[in-house]
Amino acid sequence: MSAPAFARLPHPSPVADDVRAAAIADPAFGRVFTDHMVSIRYTEGQGWHDAQVMPRGPLTLDPATAVLHYAQEIFEGLKAYRLDDGSMALFRVEANAARFNASARRMAMAELPEELFIAAVKEAVAADAHWFPPVDGGALYLRPFMFASEVFLGVKPASEYQFLVITSPVGNYFKSSAPAISLWVSEDYTRAAPGGTGAAKCGGNYAASLIAQREAIAKGHDQVVFLDAAEHRWIEELGGMNMFFVFDDGSLVTPPLTGTILPGITRDAIITLAHDAGLTVREEAYAIDQWQADAESGRLTESFACGTAAVVTPVGKVTRGEKSFTIGAGGQGQVTEMLKARLVDIQRGRAADPHGWVTRI
Ligand SMILES: *Cc1c(COP(=O)(O)O)cnc(C)c1O
Repeated sequence: MSAPAFARLPHPSPVADDVRAAAIADPAFGRVFTDHMVSIRYTEGQGWHDAQVMPRGPLTLDPATAVLHYAQEIFEGLKAYRLDDGSMALFRVEANAARFNASARRMAMAELPEELFIAAVKEAVAADAHWFPPVDGGALYLRPFMFASEVFLGVKPASEYQFLVITSPVGNYFKSSAPAISLWVSEDYTRAAPGGTGAAKCGGNYAASLIAQREAIAKGHDQVVFLDAAEHRWIEELGGMNMFFVFDDGSLVTPPLTGTILPGITRDAIITLAHDAGLTVREEAYAIDQWQADAESGRLTESFACGTAAVVTPVGKVTRGEKSFTIGAGGQGQVTEMLKARLVDIQRGRAADPHGWVTRI
């Protein structure tokens, strides 16, 4: 099946230059959107069709659209960076395309040919490159997603889907100037169970995690950290970021991908960059009690969370019930800083790209 060509329908009345300039001067994460979106439709029997770059606008959905009832929805998140020479680049977009289809398989949805996913993302960037925010750490955040668009209340995998890409100019994810984030350990709620959807990037995982995230905020923390569903003992991840632990011998630990953790592309890149730096990385289960004991003994020197949106974010403090512990000096540690710098330098084209991660547009 040949990939459909994109019809390009420019916005008839794009946002005025001065309004856009004001909007992207200091964008809050996920609140500012560009003029266009990409849409491709899938119908069983016909395949993918109606590929369009079109004016961004509301979707009209029948109240019986399947996604509104059974939540068949998946998404991706990636950034387009501006390199020092002014060109735009994507980071590991092939990995996003592959993971999107892994999520689609788990949710019994139609798979999108990887080259079509990549072409759609490139179309979105090309249509709205002038929305790139002129701020430190700025990027165009791309949100490809797909939902069951069939109008039917029977419980089954849908036979129609809509895939979209929307674009949001972003600055730094965490607005506070604090040197590190604080975490709340959720003991009442889990994010994913064996056999469940924890490894799929689906909206449903987020829906289930929001109550715990709200609890974390209410208790004065930035993010929630989830433990495993079976024993409530092993550290899994945050609502939308993977975790790393750094020890006094310079080695790192990150929880293994056993099906309940989202296989982060940033996580994978950090493992590779740590190896490149001569560090040992163990993908092994790490217990919450051990984390506290190691932080208190000084064996654990740093912890950080990572993901596309927030890049690499040091963890300064962890609270579990009535007890809290501090990681290192409570700020950003050296290994965290080094790995973040190596990652960001590759993403922004300031360092060599030995693993072929950067795609220029
Ligand atoms: C997207 C996501 C991550 C981070 O993945 P990246 O590919 O690094 O952006 C981590 N955990 C969850 C639950 C996620 O949805």
